[in-house]
Amino acid sequence: MALDKLMELKGVSKSFRSADGAPRLVLDDVDFSLAEGEIVALLGKSGSGKSTLLRIMAGLIPADAGAVSYRGRGVHGPASGIAMVFQSFALFPWLTVQQNVELGLEAQGVRPAEREARADAMLHLMGLAGFGGALPRELSGGMRQRVGIARALVTNPDVLLMDEAFSALDVLTGETLRDDILALWDSSRIPTKGILIVSHNIEEAVMMADRIIILSSGPGRISTEFQVDLVRPRVADSVEARALID
Ligand code: ADP
Ligand code: MG
Repeated sequence: MALDKLMELKGVSKSFRSADGAPRLVLDDVDFSLAEGEIVALLGKSGSGKSTLLRIMAGLIPADAGAVSYRGRGVHGPASGIAMVFQSFALFPWLTVQQNVELGLEAQGVRPAEREARADAMLHLMGLAGFGGALPRELSGGMRQRVGIARALVTNPDVLLMDEAFSALDVLTGETLRDDILALWDSSRIPTKGILIVSHNIEEAVMMADRIIILSSGPGRISTEFQVDLVRPRVADSVEARALID
């Protein structure tokens, strides 16, 4: 049975101007789809175009050529239903944790009382109950990224795009956060239907994803010959599985 496609990219290309003004192809004719129910890891060297691909999928920048669709409809700008988490957390430092999380809902026109209730629930789910009034700088890196994830998830996105979301964290903090997200996903406590994680860490990809794809560099292309399908260990098995990898 074919899985329903959440997102599909066909022939996506993107160039940026280099310092000398000449266009440089970063993504070359990329085809990719994310199906309902899967976590896909996109691996690739630094500079291969991973962040560019995610930003195009999130509607933050346009592709030069090709088509990006979400549930069969073209993506031409930020779409509700698609949320992104950034390596650098991208929190507003002058806003409280609660205000940062509510931002996504504000953009969707959700009323203040409902915003507050949903942000509270999401902070609770992400292990941040009681921190709503804190400023980002008062939190550790791991907690800041939990705020970033809460802000993405509070909008109930179908698709979660995570761009090196764990790279700025120390190993243990990153692993704990990863396991927490997988536990929420496995138990359907988050409504997200598909996750794309970008990583340069093969272990992270193996631990999280059902499928790994590689973006080859210069210019970025998805090489299907390197696609790996995994049977991801459920969270309960992951400690054991990690022992096998180490
Ligand atoms: P990755 O996330 O795989 O490290 P990126 O998508 O960030 O790669 O970048 C791919 C290439 O595109 C890099 O060479 C980067 O310098 C270039 N690039 C990315 N964004 C821009 C931009 N806004 N303007 C010019 N060049 C860019
Ligand atoms: Mg990047």
